[in-house]
Amino acid sequence: MKSQKPCVPFLDFTLQYEELRTEVLSAIDETLKASNFTLGARVAQFEAQFATYCRQRYAVGVNNGTSALHLALVAAGVGPGDEVITTPLTFVASVAAIEAAGATPVLADIDGRTLNIDPSAVEAAITCRTKAIMPVHLHGLMADVHALKEISDDCGAVLIEDAAQAHGAECQGQRSGSVGLFGSFSFYPGKNLGAYGEAGAVVTGDSEKAAQLRCLRDWGQESKSKHVMKGFNYRMDAIQAAVLEIKLRYIEAWTESRREIAQKYTSELKPAGIETPEEPAGYLHSYHVYALKVPDREGLREQLSLMGIETSIHYPTPVHLQPAYTDLGYKIGEFPESELAAARLVSLPIFPGMTREQTEMVATAVLRAI
Ligand SMILES: *Cc1c(COP(=O)(O)O)cnc(C)c1O
Repeated sequence: MKSQKPCVPFLDFTLQYEELRTEVLSAIDETLKASNFTLGARVAQFEAQFATYCRQRYAVGVNNGTSALHLALVAAGVGPGDEVITTPLTFVASVAAIEAAGATPVLADIDGRTLNIDPSAVEAAITCRTKAIMPVHLHGLMADVHALKEISDDCGAVLIEDAAQAHGAECQGQRSGSVGLFGSFSFYPGKNLGAYGEAGAVVTGDSEKAAQLRCLRDWGQESKSKHVMKGFNYRMDAIQAAVLEIKLRYIEAWTESRREIAQKYTSELKPAGIETPEEPAGYLHSYHVYALKVPDREGLREQLSLMGIETSIHYPTPVHLQPAYTDLGYKIGEFPESELAAARLVSLPIFPGMTREQTEMVATAVLRAI
């Protein structure tokens, strides 16, 4: 019964590959012909272009977004005994990276409207051990980075942005990743800027920190066989850099296309009283995810599925309620806004290349179902 191809898939990468195929294959071929497999000129070139895109000075390419977060934490001096404040409504990698650095994740609830960490909850969670504050720009909407920057400056903590979902998002003219000392990105294939495999990057405006990140990602080598710090193998693949360099030329248009789909959804659904994503004044949402907050999510998903429309759920369980993280010591009810959002959010299809007819079909189907 279910083997039929959906009328509106949740994501479709086939169109994009058709468009890029010739360019991508020739860039990969050139990279391999030059025997450039890891780091090297390809990665350096992509780093320079990605830094420009983020309106930040330096970008350091790594092997995935989780390594990017871990490296930023290590370069911020975060280690055992330190606390890092983040949100429970995120992908587990945010919390896992803090533990990988040897520090203790301290969670603070979200603002139910923006779905991002609430600065007043962050203030309440600060202790003398707080070493970093790590907001996640959920779904492509930046957290209140200016309030968080003030809070982190006041308590002597470092601000690290988990911008894995927010390439090109803006807050008061500043791009995601460029406000904190570090901004961390993922280029997982499903992200707004996705490699054809795994990749990530850290951006920073600090030249010494950039040099430290470059050293740390390559086993702490300052020069060949001279290990000046304890590092990791977090090197970026040259093939992924070649792919990303091509995709970076299209990202502004793709973000614009996501924003058009989102605006169409919101203009149809919000007047009907449905809770659509917030885009506060002064912010530019990059719509990695377009999620509605509805009381009967399963009912809606079922009805849409009958009409051939795929939906998804981005994080049905907040991190503090995941079996692997019970040792953080939090209980049900501790972060009511995160728990409510996790129970009610449902993500609609959104991807560049989605047609106007498909967008219309989804919006109409949601209105009919609710
Ligand atoms: C995807 C993601 C990560 C991890 O990135 P990977 O490239 O998958 O390691 C971290 N944080 C958030 C918020 C993410 O969405």
